[in-house]
Amino acid sequence: MSADLPLAPGSSIGILGGGQLGRMLALAAARLGFDVVVLEREADSPAGRVASRLIVGGYTDEAALAELAGCTSLVTFEFENVPAASVAWLTAHGVEVAPGEQALAAAQDRVTEKIFLNAHGAPTVAFAAAATAEEAVQAVARIGAPALMKTRREGYDGKGQRWVEHAADAAAAFAALGGVPVIVEAACDFVRELSIIAARGRDGATAVYPLAENHHDHGILRRSLAPARADQALNDQAERIAARVLAGLDYVGVIGIELFEMADGRLLVNEIAPRVHNTGHWTQDGCQVDQFEQHIRAVAGWPLGPTAAIAQVEMLNLLGDEVDAWRKFAAEPETRLHLYGKRGAKPGRKMGHINRVKPLG
Ligand code: AMP
Repeated sequence: MSADLPLAPGSSIGILGGGQLGRMLALAAARLGFDVVVLEREADSPAGRVASRLIVGGYTDEAALAELAGCTSLVTFEFENVPAASVAWLTAHGVEVAPGEQALAAAQDRVTEKIFLNAHGAPTVAFAAAATAEEAVQAVARIGAPALMKTRREGYDGKGQRWVEHAADAAAAFAALGGVPVIVEAACDFVRELSIIAARGRDGATAVYPLAENHHDHGILRRSLAPARADQALNDQAERIAARVLAGLDYVGVIGIELFEMADGRLLVNEIAPRVHNTGHWTQDGCQVDQFEQHIRAVAGWPLGPTAAIAQVEMLNLLGDEVDAWRKFAAEPETRLHLYGKRGAKPGRKMGHINRVKPLG
């Protein structure tokens, strides 16, 4: 079967991945009247527990994919490392996958991503690719130390990255990252980290949320403030970048674009995430239509919803045992609590987030 768009309420939507992003997507989809089928490796997962159906299996497991294809004609995902083979299999079996292969290919490899961005007028830091220790040394020499070496694929939350303080340390950093292909990035002397959450519908219509200002600790997002303090020129610049990225990828769905703001006011793109994004969680309590509903609207072929802010939000991630303070947060009138239902509060694990909401200033 192929997806009959716009997808009518009562239809099923498949989600690859059972984490918190899948959970919040599933809740938004359910509110619009859809049945959600989650495909996830773990039998017990945040999204699996709120979906109407759970298929337990690997993302490349053909039996699991066939079961998914048997109950839905439209599949989306909550993480960017969806294997290309799984998307190809689903597409070949008549299932519409959104966002599409092009977006996944661009986001799965940091070098491909930066080449795509630069080719579409979205500037990035200077970078060089390396596949051997010798190339890593040359890359750092070319980019200049200090530089940030990252694995080309599969890094997240600051994992798979090493600072190289001197060119002489490049080979050791390459080995420490596992000897896999890497990107060497120029150290970015940004004044702020911002992000823009944007959406593109099946008809090519786009919508962007106000900028968020983001604060990380050891590569993990701790806090977002939104709408970020920004003048018209900065907002326009971010919207231009978002429009170029969305059109360049022929995108359908919500995308997160992480930005570095430079002292001279320029914005550089750090990375793109072809999915709903942690820095967009503020939209749940700060906008009429949040990023999760927006993503479901986009992939289902519905009109996009309004993105203007209706409140000022401070979003705080609850990592590890910080979630134990839920009683305190629940007693704060300005605080909206979003918990992911994860069983074990390991250090650094994202267990939930809070949105502290104030009237727009
Ligand atoms: P990433 O996994 O690429 O999003 O990087 C995680 C965090 O590392 C970013 O949010 C920044 O705080 C920092 N970072 C990433 N790339 C650079 C860079 N080229 N220069 C300076 N800081 C960076």
